[in-house]
Amino acid sequence: MAGLLSLSPSEFVALLEHENIRRFYFVYDPMRRVVASSHPSLRPIAKFLEDDHRDFSGHEGLFFQVTEKHATLQGAFVHRTCRGQAAGGVRYWAYDTVEDFLRDGLRLARGMTHKNALAGLWWGGGKGVMARNPAIDPGDPEARSYLYREYGKFISSLRGCYVTAEDVGTSVPDIAEVFSRTRFTTCIPPHWGGSGNPSIPTARGVVAGMEAALEFLGMSGLEGKTVAVQGTGNVGGPLIGFLFEKGVKAVTACDINPETAAAARRDFAGRGLEVQTIARADDSIFRAACDIFSPNATGAILNPRTIPLLRTKIVCGAANNQLEDPARDDRGLLERGIAYVPDFLVNRMGIVNAANEQYGYVRNDPLFERHLSRDWDRSIFQTTRRVLEESRAAGRPTGQIAVRLAEELSFEKHPIFGHRGRLIIDSLVEGRWHECA
Ligand code: NAD
Repeated sequence: MAGLLSLSPSEFVALLEHENIRRFYFVYDPMRRVVASSHPSLRPIAKFLEDDHRDFSGHEGLFFQVTEKHATLQGAFVHRTCRGQAAGGVRYWAYDTVEDFLRDGLRLARGMTHKNALAGLWWGGGKGVMARNPAIDPGDPEARSYLYREYGKFISSLRGCYVTAEDVGTSVPDIAEVFSRTRFTTCIPPHWGGSGNPSIPTARGVVAGMEAALEFLGMSGLEGKTVAVQGTGNVGGPLIGFLFEKGVKAVTACDINPETAAAARRDFAGRGLEVQTIARADDSIFRAACDIFSPNATGAILNPRTIPLLRTKIVCGAANNQLEDPARDDRGLLERGIAYVPDFLVNRMGIVNAANEQYGYVRNDPLFERHLSRDWDRSIFQTTRRVLEESRAAGRPTGQIAVRLAEELSFEKHPIFGHRGRLIIDSLVEGRWHECA
């Protein structure tokens, strides 16, 4: 199987079917620094992982299956499980090549390790990815139901080393299908005991990050400040409401969706909000003079083209992976003297909201509220302050500082279960998991 990485996921699936491979894995041996593959013919992918220094960072195990119907490639990327089960949502997305699919899963799983560790959750980091088969209509209810049920069975087969959740392309009804086949998922519908929509807590987390950054810069609180908000959706909308509650003077906002922009205009009429419906290529929001620029739309929006446009002192928002190239753009912001609050630090409340679903719910839950408090040493406020202070002292970008801190924390062992995820992975390999499809 030469040139596997440049195949499209559909071509790859056809090859796997030809070889009668339904399930396969790649598992890292940290002592020998090699990646074992379940099938000799897939060794080129193991070699690619061993040689890659950009996205592969000792991921403990990558597991895949091809669905019998609808020929869809489904994966679970387990990055690090020292703190507990690898947790992170399942993305359902279109990929041009197998390499794109793998890189996205690797990068997202590592990002979840950092987010969960920095939040002090007893969870490791992982991510699910399903590659869209272009022959399947993603809106077809029968196909969706089948694919997510199959994903649930796949997750059950992994015996708890990975716990899935909602992510881009996956909705709560999809998770209900997953939940019909596995207990290893969060974000289940509230009427089945799930934790519900996390967007409001996420917006509250962003506010906490903004307040910490303002205090760090000696600019006191949000009162009287100006904020530019990119994206007025599930997080951006409530965020604007919280900002007005805190007494901000003016909010400039934009969205590419006219309905979402109109809803914000209606909800905050007469409150100092200027909101525009824009074309996707419109970059006027980056040029808005403000105290805080808050990205709450899509990723990769901070790059060498947009960073020079910014007229702000702080960047703080919920959008995932805001930096197009983390190393380059993190430094670009530092060099412009802009305090950047890393996204994975400030947007943690989505995962915090889902983290302890199985332990039940308490009104004004202290385990939840402490993330939004000022005094807990792992709160968003305290961690943001710490990262900004270390960045200033060391002259290094905030993203770098936050990743280093998260890496340290991610190696702490779960107080009860230790590094059990690794034991689960080893037992899957011993039990010849890939032959049990
Ligand atoms: P959403 O889809 O409800 O809202 C995003 C909004 O951004 C949409 O209204 C969309 O039309 C708009 N948009 C897209 N491209 C745009 C552009 N170029 N300019 C202006 N607007 C644009 O999503 P959400 O749940 O509000 O999440 C926002 C971001 O925060 C996403 O990146 C998401 O991954 C991240 N995030 C969300 C949560 C959560 O709890 N919802 C948690 C963690 C991270």
